[in-house]
Amino acid sequence: MLILISDAFDKGLPATLARFGEVTDDKARLPEATVVLVRSKTKCTKEYMDGAPQLKLIIRGGVGLDNVDREYAKTKGIIVKNTPAASSIAVAELAMALMSAISARVIEGHMTMANGQWAKKELKRTELYGKTLGLIGAGRIASEVAKRAKAFGMNVIAYDPYLKESDYARLVPMDELLASADYVSLHTPLTDETKGMINADAIAKMKDGVVIINSGRGKCINEPDLAAALRDGKVRAFGTDVWFSDPPPADCPLLTAPNVFMTPHIGAETKENLLRIGAEVEKIIESFAASA
Ligand code: NAD
Repeated sequence: MLILISDAFDKGLPATLARFGEVTDDKARLPEATVVLVRSKTKCTKEYMDGAPQLKLIIRGGVGLDNVDREYAKTKGIIVKNTPAASSIAVAELAMALMSAISARVIEGHMTMANGQWAKKELKRTELYGKTLGLIGAGRIASEVAKRAKAFGMNVIAYDPYLKESDYARLVPMDELLASADYVSLHTPLTDETKGMINADAIAKMKDGVVIINSGRGKCINEPDLAAALRDGKVRAFGTDVWFSDPPPADCPLLTAPNVFMTPHIGAETKENLLRIGAEVEKIIESFAASA
């Protein structure tokens, strides 16, 4: 079988997968591929799958499957798998990094010094210790964030209507979370329910000076509403790794709003995570090959 590696995976993966067949990164060979490996760049649309008559298995290295048309894959008998457990630590560490960089004012400290300023008096910091962190979504990544936040001395609560309990956070209704969190961190998939869930109404229910972190999906935020709340100071800062589109368009209102701290969707991009994704991909292909 031909395995097409369409996006960026660990450099050692082609050699590991060679025992299952030919491995290529030549996208022009899609029509011959039995297995396709994607991250988030390749969009597995109807047209993409129609251009791959031999395709039997799509593996998305990562969590979200929003770049794969799963309904259409089903109609064509194409199996779709992902590697949901691999990325949790990498994304949780980035969410913590954004949160602690904002409270510690690391980025303003660096930028002012790089500009030749000594802003010791201006850069008053706050601590994470003793603050309440509200997690929206209490799954794998949120649980890893919760463990780390507790080590910082934070009080961790979470809203997740699909869970009865969590070992890591006290589950509360959404309105209670919005009213009591000093930091709100998003960890849901993008669904009809979560799309735009952080809008003017939700922000109005939050504490004045709240900090919002998004390492889930960009479209869970209503961008104009959040930009307005950053401008009027209701939201003290927004740390985000995720965007409406990768990269965001030049007119994205968050690019020019004050106190936005951003990374270019690198939550899953650790060396260690690529190795874990590779190991999960190998297992998936092994069981696919055994059942073929
Ligand atoms: P997960 O499935 O373990 O957890 C998601 C949780 O969200 C579930 O417990 C689910 O019940 C909950 N949820 C669903 N709808 C909800 C709603 N309306 N309100 C509140 N909670 C809701 O997934 P995970 O591994 O923790 O990943 C979470 C998300 O993180 C992914 O879906 C993806 O969008 C995002 N992600 C981002 C990156 C990145 O690079 N920044 C990398 C991986 C994943």
